[in-house]
Amino acid sequence: MTKQKEGNELTNKNHLRREKVVLAGCQLLTQSDERFASSMEELKALTETANGVVAAVITQKRARKDAAFVLGKGKVAELAEKVDELEAETVIFNGELTPSQLVNLSGRIGVHVIDRTQLILDIFAVRARSREGKLQVELAQLNYLLPRLSGKGKALSRLGGGIGTRGPGETKLEQDRRYIRRRIADIKRQLDTIVRHRERYRERRKRNQLFQIALVGYTNAGKTTLFNAITDAGGTAENQLFATLDPLTRRFQLPSGLEVVISDTVGFIQDLPTSLVAAFRSTLEEVKEADLILHVIDASHPDFLQHEKTVLDLLDDLDAGHLPALAVYNKTDKVDETFIPSPGMKAIRMSAKSDRDVERLKDEIERCVKDEMVYFEASIPLENGKFLAKLRTRAVVAEQTTNEERETISVKGYTFRDRPLHEQLKPFIREHGR
Ligand code: GDP
Ligand code: MG
Repeated sequence: MTKQKEGNELTNKNHLRREKVVLAGCQLLTQSDERFASSMEELKALTETANGVVAAVITQKRARKDAAFVLGKGKVAELAEKVDELEAETVIFNGELTPSQLVNLSGRIGVHVIDRTQLILDIFAVRARSREGKLQVELAQLNYLLPRLSGKGKALSRLGGGIGTRGPGETKLEQDRRYIRRRIADIKRQLDTIVRHRERYRERRKRNQLFQIALVGYTNAGKTTLFNAITDAGGTAENQLFATLDPLTRRFQLPSGLEVVISDTVGFIQDLPTSLVAAFRSTLEEVKEADLILHVIDASHPDFLQHEKTVLDLLDDLDAGHLPALAVYNKTDKVDETFIPSPGMKAIRMSAKSDRDVERLKDEIERCVKDEMVYFEASIPLENGKFLAKLRTRAVVAEQTTNEERETISVKGYTFRDRPLHEQLKPFIREHGR
């Protein structure tokens, strides 16, 4: 999950390897237990999103953060011990660390230490698809890095003071800073051009003929759990091939046999640092290409109504508000009271942990997909077997009967109106069928 900097490229090799992580959090007295717990839960989900495995969680309640180490001396020692004992590779702090805290903690704990902002940037970097998205993320990364480079320089010169701590090392940092400033200016110029010509970029058409479903919602809502449950993770060899290209997109079959594609998009984040808003939005551009949005809501979260509203507002902002959507109120196994889903939306209440509920969800998705299709009745000659097979995975075949005498098969079902298959079907449509 660590981001390696190589020349001017921020690469993300190794993002499939799972890194062992210890989480650390400081709860201020002004923060309610509930809110703190939910932010630690979110940090865990973010870590998993970045391919980390949480081995332990260390927290402390304090009146204020320690200026040098965030946590108290004893807690930091406990943290270092845990890291040792578990052979963890990385410590992630919930919150933003000052440049000097970063240096102090890394020195004291002896492994890679990052903060919540770096973790989020890492996730965005892996998920950014469009040119704009990649530039926005790099810009945010460089802006994050800049003050921390000088922090490192200062820490170094304070450390030994004098020979061996200045000179080439310091000069190198100066160069890096100058390079970074130039690169930031360059990125801003490029983004300016992209924004001015955005209309042209928007015309990009769908890459794929298959129906596209996008999972959206807050981090920790259960998107990835649902993604895996729906697609039966580790399933077909084809999906594994897909996985190496894009671990966030998979094919699956609806109960009728119709093949669709589902994507697990980057999750919304509570209290997203404002410096990351632009990068976050640009990683969600792909949502606009979806044919159906599954809006996953953690119904057990105390702020779920606010979360739901934030997501809907942003979808509107992204020009995706008009797309067909299904609200998935998840984690109902954790809520006892019944609540009323927001009016005017198609909705399902469920638990991603229940197989029966996942089947119900698939049925509901199929109903939503059918709403985007048109009914047909066709008569297809038996010799067109291949076309018939195609219909079964690219359309919904509701009923089929073989007519031996006429050597045809009558098919009743649903297709997507504006896709090539609909044209290919036209010669076989029975006019009186509808
Ligand atoms: P994402 O951030 O939206 O992808 O959320 P995840 O799928 O990673 O899930 C976050 C946490 O919620 C994980 O610990 C899941 O095991 C848990 N979770 C997901 N769905 C449910 C559910 O329906 N019920 C319960 N009790 N936990 C769930
Ligand atoms: Mg996820």
